[in-house]
Amino acid sequence: ETAKKNGHIVMVPLMAQGHIIPLLALARKILHSKTIFTITIATTPLNIQHLRSALSSASPIQVRLSELPYNSTQHGLPPNTESTENLTPTQIIKLFRSTHTLEAPLRSLILQIAEEEGHPPLCTISDSLLGWVNNVAKSLGIRNICFSSSGAYGTLAYFSIWANLPHRKTQSDEFWVPGFPQNHRFHRTQLHGFLREADGNDDWSQCFLPQIALSMKSDGWVCNTVEELEPLGLQLLRDYLQLPVWAVGPILPSSALEGSKHRTGKESGVTLEACMEWLDLKDENSVVYVSFGSQNTISAPQMMALAEGLEKSGRSFIWVVRPPVGFDIDGEFKEEWLPKGFEERMRDTKKGLLVRKWGPQLEILSHKSTGVFLSHCGWNSVLESLSNGVPLIGWPLAAEQIYNVKMLVEEMGVAVELTRTVESTICGEEVKKVIEIVMEKEGKGKEMKEKAKEIASHMRKAVTEKREEKGSSLRAMDDLVRTILS
Ligand code: UDP
Repeated sequence: ETAKKNGHIVMVPLMAQGHIIPLLALARKILHSKTIFTITIATTPLNIQHLRSALSSASPIQVRLSELPYNSTQHGLPPNTESTENLTPTQIIKLFRSTHTLEAPLRSLILQIAEEEGHPPLCTISDSLLGWVNNVAKSLGIRNICFSSSGAYGTLAYFSIWANLPHRKTQSDEFWVPGFPQNHRFHRTQLHGFLREADGNDDWSQCFLPQIALSMKSDGWVCNTVEELEPLGLQLLRDYLQLPVWAVGPILPSSALEGSKHRTGKESGVTLEACMEWLDLKDENSVVYVSFGSQNTISAPQMMALAEGLEKSGRSFIWVVRPPVGFDIDGEFKEEWLPKGFEERMRDTKKGLLVRKWGPQLEILSHKSTGVFLSHCGWNSVLESLSNGVPLIGWPLAAEQIYNVKMLVEEMGVAVELTRTVESTICGEEVKKVIEIVMEKEGKGKEMKEKAKEIASHMRKAVTEKREEKGSSLRAMDDLVRTILS
């Protein structure tokens, strides 16, 4: 029993920053729960190096890091390529496929732990796109739990569409997705490029489908979500998987690096102090915050329209600007991508603060002046916005973001969708109109704000313990721990 109580968990993240940091945040959360575990995160050498330097400046956390040997050049990738950042789609497929070579080293690691500790680890926890980890765990007689850093609704929609390709079975623009109620319709425009083209035999399908299928046979799923936030999504995902799904969120990526001065390693365009001072001068709920996450950007004409719309709206805004599609997203920003004199006008009138490259998002969203978030609706951005009671303007660009927006609009009433993908044509007037709707002190704007605030309070309660009564996410974590130990 004592040996079991000090059991070992081995975590295997997908090789992408957006997946590694949330898994680290989950590790921290598990370690904060009452039971004492040892957690080892196993990934490729460069990713371990990043994790080590991120952790060295964060407040202490007892996570062991274990390098799984990997050589990208053996897989037709440039030297030292161990993460999806800045890769072409073809390279990303190569990287995903190459993760199989980590199978043997992972097996050795687990056997080594078993030998040293006299019993095997309690379980593995793997990214939902690394289904092969489930095979390794099962062959060694231990459990595998799958981790999805996205919400339940978005995960189900995205995986079920990949697995079933329902849009190929109909001519009509609207279709039903297995796992959802019959009257719950999805639209062809809610499929981004690869998915629209997918036929089951294309490279993306070949890469994703087997992994998703294996992950679906895990012993349970952990989702970075909250029971009260998406009751429908969670119920549907549980029914579809026929597995326990633990909603232990919100796990915000920044919590992984608690106390760290260099939370992201990315250079910030404007200092935190400057952003806060700028926001301090604004009225409550009066500022539009604009950002498309860490990996996405919009097209050059869209950027021009967005700038025009922001200016026409007359509202104050903070915009994390990145070079448009076709340019290095982390490269230099050129003034010619914005309307003539835009930046100067915004500075002089104090209407707009343009932040290059990287902004202190969580701090901006928790400032009382921030009224709405114009976002690509990556799941972390959604959680960060709603946990601060900030409604959203959705502009989904990739992955499951379109389904996140669908849920935010249709199920929750806390967002409006401005447009979809980098392919759409929009004009400044449309941007202005949507901003007006959401910022309205009456009508729809007011309703959205109230709902967002209500959700924020549910999210807070979910992670709170009051007079012996635990919130839903704390109870889910207890249950997860109990299952791991059983
Ligand atoms: N982020 C940030 N500053 C930026 C852009 C992003 O702090 O300028 C953080 C943001 O707070 C969130 C994460 O990066 O925690 C982005 O995750 P999300 O799931 O929203 O989108 P992704 O980048 O994975 O598309």
